[in-house]
Amino acid sequence: MMYICNSVDRTRCGSCGGVNPHEHKGNPTLSYCEKVRKHVKCIPVDCLIPDYLFRIDGMERRTERMMKLLEQQLRACRKCTLHMNGKALPYWTVDYKGIAIVGEAPGREEIETNTPFCGRAGKILMEVLERHGIQREHCLIINSVNCRPVEGLKNGKPSALHLETCRPWINKYFGVLKPKKVLLLGNYALGTILEEDGITSKNATLLERDGVSYVKSVHPAYAIYAQEKGLQMLEKSVLLLSKV
Ligand code: SF4
Repeated sequence: MMYICNSVDRTRCGSCGGVNPHEHKGNPTLSYCEKVRKHVKCIPVDCLIPDYLFRIDGMERRTERMMKLLEQQLRACRKCTLHMNGKALPYWTVDYKGIAIVGEAPGREEIETNTPFCGRAGKILMEVLERHGIQREHCLIINSVNCRPVEGLKNGKPSALHLETCRPWINKYFGVLKPKKVLLLGNYALGTILEEDGITSKNATLLERDGVSYVKSVHPAYAIYAQEKGLQMLEKSVLLLSKV
């Protein structure tokens, strides 16, 4: 059974692994656990992939529950100043088929709809993916930072500190969904995941690491900026993704 957490600092029972339904009573490291019916030491939710979930469900339900837990944690994240500008949670569905797409950062439209890649560049990307037989529902779509960087009133660029602070979320999502193919869109994704730069010269190239195929690609916004040339480069990368 999974408990709903009402505790002020979102902790998890160190004894049974359940999220405790009771508020802390004075001591922030102790709370009452309904499952083991005693006061127990709590450990932070944030550092956990909850092993107890492995024991209670089949693979699919387990993944869904873990993803819901991750979403709860991410929704509450205030680890860097970008949280003040709004957040777009990573996109995934139960039809996920082992493909991850990593972008840069959510913009205004993504924040308003809470969906990554729903703006103009996102529409271009989805059209290209569909042309090569890849549906949005089959993918995890996540950004290098989950909150919106701004410059004045416009969309901005994430700083190195923002990227580093947000990186553990990608690790957590990858840890649960274990993608076999990863499409890296633009220099921010390339730098965050592979610690490389120079995406234009590396477009449509492949790196195999630990059983995962990483396809490097220009960002779909480049197809707006460089038009036909940008679109062709994006097409080439997605074609490679569809074949690995
Ligand atoms: S950008 Fe990432 S690390 Fe910063 S507050 Fe948002 S989710 Fe948390």
